[in-house]
Amino acid sequence: MSLAITYADIEAAAQRLRGVAHRTPVLTSRTANERTGAQLFFKCENLQRTGAFKFRGAYHALAQLTPEQSKHGVLAFSSGNHAQAIALAARLLGMPAVIVMPQDAPPLKIEATKGYGAEVVLYDRYTEDREALSARIARERGMTLIPPYDHAHVMAGQGTAAKELLEEVGALDLLLVCVGGGGLISGCAVAARQLAPQCAVIGVEPEAGNDVQQSLKRGEIVHIDVPRTIADGAQTQHAGRLTFPVIRELVRDIATVSDAALIRTLRFFAERMKIVVEPTGCLAAAAALEGAVPVAGKRIGVIVSGGNIDRTRYAQLLTREPA
Ligand SMILES: *Cc1c(COP(=O)(O)O)cnc(C)c1O
Repeated sequence: MSLAITYADIEAAAQRLRGVAHRTPVLTSRTANERTGAQLFFKCENLQRTGAFKFRGAYHALAQLTPEQSKHGVLAFSSGNHAQAIALAARLLGMPAVIVMPQDAPPLKIEATKGYGAEVVLYDRYTEDREALSARIARERGMTLIPPYDHAHVMAGQGTAAKELLEEVGALDLLLVCVGGGGLISGCAVAARQLAPQCAVIGVEPEAGNDVQQSLKRGEIVHIDVPRTIADGAQTQHAGRLTFPVIRELVRDIATVSDAALIRTLRFFAERMKIVVEPTGCLAAAAALEGAVPVAGKRIGVIVSGGNIDRTRYAQLLTREPA
């Protein structure tokens, strides 16, 4: 069976995103290198527009809608970052957007989404089915549903993050990428196969939400209950029908990290590297810094996926919660 995207799709996405998405910086840290015995390159998507890599996939997907689809607009369901990304991309492309968000999503994310001009519809993530609700609204208003990860244009857009990283730093031995529904890692794995065929791609999930790790073991998509973890961007219950085959074929392994490891990594980013990273954005780095994967002696790319966290919660994580 052929995979949903090829490297040519990622190149096309890179073209469309030129001058629209930021080419985010790659940071290094002597402290991180000393601690791990590795050479780490942090691709800082926390500094991407809307504060996460999601803008890449969202813009790439919206830019390809027909004029008729654009007129009716787009709808998305998301715990936050995909929502903001769709909202901004829709505004830039001049189309209406409705975002269906869980009512316990971080308030900053809800506000930011409204701030980009989208209409927000809230639901209860523990009792309501967001997919059914979204499908109904899309049908009623003729809107096009853009899923957060299981969409070829979204996957290709996300892959441009790894393309940029590999073009900037050259070949790597290992690329660490966080995994929610697998849009980011599937795009990145396709880019890595082309640009650094020797580079192993390893996914990182929260310990409490290791559905993709279970899925790889079983050879089929495993569904889990909504995981309780501070990594709210990785609270997905299952990989996608398009992302999972790519992961199965191109991803070497999945590692997991605890919430405590995420908190320590968030503090490391703040204190040592002077950057604000949300808990989900800490997953890949935590795997390296906390020894969840062997890294010594290797050149390693680390995707820092996002930096959206409200300041009260951030202050709590920095100072009050045990880690
Ligand atoms: C969405 C998101 C993820 C997970 O990405 P998938 O494509 O669903 O695997 C990770 N980190 C952040 C910050 C996100 O917003």
